[in-house]
Amino acid sequence: MPAMKSHARVVVVGGGVVGCSVLYHLTKMGWKDVVLCERKELTAGSSWHAAGGFHALNSDPNISRLQAYTIKLYREIEKLSGQNIGLHFTGGLNIAATRERWDFLRADWARHRVLGLSTELLGPAQIRKLCPIIDTSDVIGAIYDPMEGHLDPSGATHAFAKAARSAGAEIYRHTRVIEILPTGHGSWHIVTDAGTLEAEHVVNAAGLWAREVGQMVGVQLPIVAMEHHYLLTEDLPELQQLPGEIPLVLDLDGEIYLRQERKGILLGVYEKEATPWALNGTPWEYGENELLPPSLDRLTDALDKGFRRFPTLSAAGIRRVVNGPFTFTPDGNPLVGPVPGVRNYWAACGVMAGFAQAGGVGLALSHWMTQGEPDSDIYAMDVARFGAHASRNYTIAKGSEFYARRFQIAYPNEFWPAGRPAKTPATYPTLKAANGVFGVSFGTEVPLYFATDGELSEETPSLRRSNAFASVAEECRVARNGVGILDISSFGKYLIGGPRAEQALERLLAGRIPGLGKIRLTPMLSHSGRLMGDLTTMRLESDRFLLGGSGYLQTWHMRWFSHHLAAEGVTVKNVSEEYGGVAIFGPQSRELLARLSQANVSNEAFPFLTVLQRDLGFAPALTARLSVTGELGYEIYTPTPYMHALLGSVIQAAEELDARHVGFYALNALRLEKSFGIWSREFSPDYTPRMAGLDRFIAYDRPNFIGREAAIRDRETAPKRRLVTLAVSSTDADAAGYEPIVLRGDLVGFVTSGGYAHSVRTSLAMAYVNAEVSDTEQELSVTILGEPCSCRILTEPSIDASGSRMKS
Ligand SMILES: Cc1cc2nc3c(=O)[nH]c(=O)nc-3n(C[C@H](O)[C@H](O)[C@H](O)COP(=O)(O)OP(=O)(O)OC[C@H]3O[C@@H](n4cnc5c(N)ncnc54)[C@H](O)[C@@H]3O)c2cc1C
Repeated sequence: MPAMKSHARVVVVGGGVVGCSVLYHLTKMGWKDVVLCERKELTAGSSWHAAGGFHALNSDPNISRLQAYTIKLYREIEKLSGQNIGLHFTGGLNIAATRERWDFLRADWARHRVLGLSTELLGPAQIRKLCPIIDTSDVIGAIYDPMEGHLDPSGATHAFAKAARSAGAEIYRHTRVIEILPTGHGSWHIVTDAGTLEAEHVVNAAGLWAREVGQMVGVQLPIVAMEHHYLLTEDLPELQQLPGEIPLVLDLDGEIYLRQERKGILLGVYEKEATPWALNGTPWEYGENELLPPSLDRLTDALDKGFRRFPTLSAAGIRRVVNGPFTFTPDGNPLVGPVPGVRNYWAACGVMAGFAQAGGVGLALSHWMTQGEPDSDIYAMDVARFGAHASRNYTIAKGSEFYARRFQIAYPNEFWPAGRPAKTPATYPTLKAANGVFGVSFGTEVPLYFATDGELSEETPSLRRSNAFASVAEECRVARNGVGILDISSFGKYLIGGPRAEQALERLLAGRIPGLGKIRLTPMLSHSGRLMGDLTTMRLESDRFLLGGSGYLQTWHMRWFSHHLAAEGVTVKNVSEEYGGVAIFGPQSRELLARLSQANVSNEAFPFLTVLQRDLGFAPALTARLSVTGELGYEIYTPTPYMHALLGSVIQAAEELDARHVGFYALNALRLEKSFGIWSREFSPDYTPRMAGLDRFIAYDRPNFIGREAAIRDRETAPKRRLVTLAVSSTDADAAGYEPIVLRGDLVGFVTSGGYAHSVRTSLAMAYVNAEVSDTEQELSVTILGEPCSCRILTEPSIDASGSRMKS
């Protein structure tokens, strides 16, 4: 082992598959002065006892892409390192035994075309041909992915390590990081039991101990470890006779997975009741070939299902039972990226499927560290997707729920119950009493829709249009004809102030900075000119601004602000929870506001995109004239303690008007009717302003905003894809995202979001399509739940193309 350096550019803490992949990728991107500290031997956490299966399929398309990258990397790593990693590309089957699951798989299969994955749908006979030991009597079909398989987990980890070492990285084994202390000049002292070294950056890749390594810098990472079992059987005669290997099988409805291990079977089980492990901290002495005592009685149900699906297993001898812990986050995705509030401290942990994800995590993180941003939208695994709500108890509840529902269908309209309600808006009792049905965003309950009388007040999870349909239709009708009332307390709100606030915003934002009392939509760009935000900027005083954005991006936005707004004479405050809000929209919204404010709120006195600061009832209020629905509309903000009173005044003033509570489902339909994009769907770091049609909001002539040079290049280059809206002929389901769009058999684009547009009685979808077809009047096709549906590009928004309703 090399003698310890006194200084390194990066110290990676943890030599599991993730830490070794990060180390390898850093060297690949040109950072050679990098070291890894491992407390025992490499793989001494979860990595050594993994079942070694890998697969590209994931419900999040961006994570799927990174998983596909991980798999493709294995051959490269094996070659570079000379280390055999026991690669078996057996292919994999995801089995459906219910109609609903089959719909789900077919929808996924269509999306794979967009992601460049060559999966196939197979029927029972084809399944049996690949896997003769399976009972398909109740099986409808399966997705087959030829890129799935298994490997030797220890070999793969060592291969990353060797490849990194040969590119200049150093690995210190038996070197436990005990403390991580700031040096006072932006770097870290890494105190280990074998000496101290100074590093510019630290990467927490400590797997089962990532919480502890987070606590070393005062951070509580939302991670919980779970016990997990798999069994290894004795050799099976059926497999001994087979010339090749059976594929990896995920029996999704049975909630088991299985693969061949030599001539026997490895059968893994996700129990209905998760068993969290080491809740008060992972013992430092745990690890290196240590396992947990098996608990077979927890597996009885799952084994019964396994034996029914693979009858030969019931007679097989069990060679070994493995029970090992591995980590989960509240949503099952990894934690990657710069940890908010701690300079040069990076996360690469909470990785539940290390052998499918480590390559992608390593790539994303090292790109971020070396280039200043990840190379694609990795929000789904960004450590900044959680806020203070992701507490210890929340993490245990959600992590356990995720484990137990690992293979269950995640319906797009389903909000799982664990950890709820945690945070509620001040108006929650009023909204509940009005039959509000809630979802959750960033830990806060948000109204989805308000059930009309006699209707079920719970939404049925469904891949098709749900029982919320009629209520949402009525909400849309009122919003277009009367006045809709929506609690928007969950929106993100940031106060930026100080004598240098305007100057700082001119650098941060790519759009024009509004004049006093005015509002502007202001895109924010990354250094490479990709979208970082679609903020609304209001100027409240000459040196005081309120920025508004999607509420779930609060930590993400604040991390970016703290990096790019930190300057003398500028203050930045996240006031999202200190202020609540209610939006009113529709042709009668001006009348409602006039009743509330007793002021002249005519178009002349209070025009579009201006702010009015005036008490409404007892509530000190800031009213902004803007609307996501495309109707005349206002967003009213007030300090949270006044929210209940404000909503009460709004409801009272709405008497005799055609008024109604409205939820976020209706808002989605209304904005689709106006072809308004939203964050994470139409807008994300995967897109540039030109592609997204946001270039009209960019102040190209202003020098020095972040991403300007790239934005100018983007403006001058014809975009390959453009954002369009499609009218879709579908009967009972709408596009949800990533469905392929096809012209005469060729893939020409993909959906970003969709829904039923009640005002125009058609299904709509927004989509990125190849530039050459973006003006086409030809019929296209979009695959929804596996069925091709004809669609056509709209030349203008389906409602109020001129914007006169919103502006008059
Ligand atoms: C039974 C079981 C089956 C599994 N099957 C699969 C599968 O089939 N496919 C799949 O993709 N995944 C599987 N997994 C999950 C997989 O094992 C993990 O996702 C993966 O190992 C996580 O790797 P890691 O590098 O993040 O963490 P770990 O493997 O836990 O590595 C962390 C390392 O950091 C070191 N460390 C911690 N703290 C310090 C410190 N302070 N100083 C120095 N070193 C430190 C530890 O010693 C350890 O070696 C399975 C897990 C289990 C338990």
